[in-house]
Amino acid sequence: SDSHFPIPIIPADMDYSQHFPYFFPSRSSDDDDGSAPPRKIRFADIGCGFGGLLVGLSPLFPDTLMIGMELRDKVTEYVKERILALRAANPGQYENISVVRTNSMKYVPNYFEKGQLSKMFFLFPDPHFKEKNHRRRVISLQLLDEYAYALEVGGIIYTITDVDELGDWMRSCLEDHPLFEAVPEEELEADPVVRLLSSATEEGQKVARNGGQTFRAVYRRISEKE
Ligand code: SAM
Repeated sequence: SDSHFPIPIIPADMDYSQHFPYFFPSRSSDDDDGSAPPRKIRFADIGCGFGGLLVGLSPLFPDTLMIGMELRDKVTEYVKERILALRAANPGQYENISVVRTNSMKYVPNYFEKGQLSKMFFLFPDPHFKEKNHRRRVISLQLLDEYAYALEVGGIIYTITDVDELGDWMRSCLEDHPLFEAVPEEELEADPVVRLLSSATEEGQKVARNGGQTFRAVYRRISEKE
């Protein structure tokens, strides 16, 4: 249950110096007079699983802070250990990625301020096939309101799945939502992040090994539809 992990009441309650010590030097250091505004997380990988996307993105955007949100305790611990091991083996690298254990369906607004994020990822989310379980899907019109709140105007939401029905569902929720519009195909081809969607995560690699098809929907947060 949710009582087993701490949840910030508001985003400012999070102490990110634990997550990103390299980017949050202790207040007593000489070159930090305490006046610089704290850096903010810009990318969120929702249901990050074993963290493959974060590990793939980290060197592409070394100055951008990114966080994975994962519900399973053991998986979250694994990602923490994985990041610490990468940092130890590659000094100065992988300092910009971290993970929190949380239920993203309930707590996204507790972690992110309005317009804080520039990218959100939903890679191979659980399909919840039965109609009565559709309300458990991590993309829905209601949850898109929360994601639209956390994303800046111009920010991008990336989704991918190997389940065609879920792919249709995610695309139609995004299509129907007034604050998202599809990113044109030419732009996707030029976006280095798009390649990682199917290749970087553990689930994506499994699908690729089995020769499975994938269904992608990538949408931009807009201020309102024309
Ligand atoms: N994105 C990863 C990948 O592509 O390899 C993991 C995909 S896995 C099929 C879905 C993940 O979402 C699982 O690790 C699961 O624990 C996590 N998850 C499911 N519901 C969640 C929720 N409400 N909040 C956070 N994580 C959740």
